[in-house]
Amino acid sequence: FFFAFLPPKMFRPLLRFTPKLANRVGAAAHVRCFATTAPKQLQRVHQHTAAVRVTEMEKYAEDPMFCFQCEQTSSGTGCNNVGTCGKTPDTSGLQDLLVHGVKILAWYVHNARQTAPGLQVDAALYHFVITGLFTTLTNVNFDNTAILPMIQTCLEHIDTAKALYLDACKQAGREPATLDAMPMPEAEALTASNMADLVTHSKLVGVLATYQRAQSDDVAGVLEMLIYGLKGVAAYTDHCIVAGVEDVAVYEHMVEALAFTLSEDRNDLGKALAMCLKTGEVNLNVTKMLYGANSLLGVPQPRSVKANIVPGKCILVSGHDLHVLHSLLKATEGTGINVFTHGEMLPAHSYPELAKFTHLVGHFGGPWSRQKMEFPHFPGAIVMTTNCLMPPLKTYKRRMFTFGVVGWQGVAHLGLQLKDVDWSGVIATAKASPGFLAQHADKPFPYPAEHGIKRPAEYTIGFGHEAIIANAGTVLDEVKKGNISRFFLVGGCDGSESVRSYFTDVGNSVPDSAVILTLGCGKYRVNHLDKGTIGDTGLPRLLDMGQCNDSYSAVAVALALAEALGCSVGELPLSFAISWLEQKAVAVLLTMLHLGLKPIYLGPELPAFVTPAVLDVLVKDFGVRPVGNAKADIQAMIQGE
Ligand code: SF4
Ligand code: SF4
Repeated sequence: FFFAFLPPKMFRPLLRFTPKLANRVGAAAHVRCFATTAPKQLQRVHQHTAAVRVTEMEKYAEDPMFCFQCEQTSSGTGCNNVGTCGKTPDTSGLQDLLVHGVKILAWYVHNARQTAPGLQVDAALYHFVITGLFTTLTNVNFDNTAILPMIQTCLEHIDTAKALYLDACKQAGREPATLDAMPMPEAEALTASNMADLVTHSKLVGVLATYQRAQSDDVAGVLEMLIYGLKGVAAYTDHCIVAGVEDVAVYEHMVEALAFTLSEDRNDLGKALAMCLKTGEVNLNVTKMLYGANSLLGVPQPRSVKANIVPGKCILVSGHDLHVLHSLLKATEGTGINVFTHGEMLPAHSYPELAKFTHLVGHFGGPWSRQKMEFPHFPGAIVMTTNCLMPPLKTYKRRMFTFGVVGWQGVAHLGLQLKDVDWSGVIATAKASPGFLAQHADKPFPYPAEHGIKRPAEYTIGFGHEAIIANAGTVLDEVKKGNISRFFLVGGCDGSESVRSYFTDVGNSVPDSAVILTLGCGKYRVNHLDKGTIGDTGLPRLLDMGQCNDSYSAVAVALALAEALGCSVGELPLSFAISWLEQKAVAVLLTMLHLGLKPIYLGPELPAFVTPAVLDVLVKDFGVRPVGNAKADIQAMIQGE
């Protein structure tokens, strides 16, 4: 107890010598730190904490924030002052509170369902779980004025779910279980003027609290991986909801997995890993559902897309949501305004119901991470349909619009649901902007070039699983003739770090007889490469399968190939070089682990939330490999290592 009153810098070195003492000192010090820093109205909530444990993460306890959910996290360990993504400590704190509120909401819903099987749950509760998690994904919402009301709504939903649970217990004649979780702030505390207290409160429920309340750092890391995987599933599910497609089984898993993080079982490492794999399985179903939702716009067809200037007034559409683009194309038909895609919207041109609009004229720019370099050179309105949003520059902020859960304070928001969207502001902005001039027709776009990458004037896209399976006979013949020696899936999320050139090196270094499958914005590391065609089939050796949302297509191709070649998916001549950045990629990784696809070369850095012991399991049991030297990795991949 005495040690607890020493400054943290003095007592921490002592903790290395005696774990038992460390736990006691840590618990006492945590109480002491909280008692001296927390405002009075928050101190009472501390009585609800379970025993706390000292962890390596304690070193961040007094920092303004802590977040390590994405690959670009500061120094590869955690953003503790401000997010590399631009997230401030206030936003980070509010997001932590929102995630915690969603966990509590899910706990009540899940326990109500367990108590009263077949119980009908209001869709509004499930939808809030989805939008609440998606809001906290990397590069989605930085707007405190939007997140604060969401936390308020979360409190209302928690009350509804709690009443549902208590009623279910009453009907069943059971004592309600006790929720072992830090309470949320009171509704009246949810004001911008109370931000400092809210951030203090958030530290009792964020990443550090997960570590303090878990039995080991390994468990805490896996629980964080589970939450990030669920955020990714929520993002894909949200895209489905926008398209009007849902599956209650997905919601049931979401609330079960979130409730798990507040249950006693959470400290069972095996059960926590099993819940991650189950989330990967559910994500496979969600991406299949999303593929179906997008296919309402037709089955993707291979085609070429122009990537140079088309004169006229213009609108740029980024993000991932094809149905939002469809709505915009209908609204702008006949206005004389041209629509360009950006980033992950490139595959939109392969959907017949989108491509039929003649004013969808081409593609502008590269991956999300080049927004600040490219958007200033787009002379029209810019619409972010989903992630990934970067902090907008003044040069284009007034021309920018966001949809759904995406938000930035001061950027016009189009609405949470497609039916609410009024496109008149976007159209007016496009008309008031200069547009591309006639004398620049067919010229390259004026944004700065990427280091070492020469962008083509045309992209070939549209090789979803239907297009590839339609050519399955040809592809298999080429395998038998030796014209295809191996398939390499090179893709995922891109980012701005120079080490991501690894994936271009892989694209450049695969054997001439290889076929590269690519998807996600990671494609921008390879889709400028001229890999020629497969034999005399006319099929490109580099096949663009679509967005990260189309990961189901990659799985469908793998399953079809395995069936045709009479082998298991694991025995296929198929290697994976996966670039990850945010939590959709975590969900896809969990799907790959669930399917037993391996080895998976993952990079450019491994997730900071994976501890050495858990990494050992991922390497030995699941075939995860940290990326290294591209040429050496390719040799290992060819050997199946
Ligand atoms: S989302 Fe990524 S970059 Fe942003 S604060 Fe978290 S770890 Fe840092
Ligand atoms: S692939 Fe990932 S990083 Fe790239 S735009 Fe999509 S969600 Fe963002």
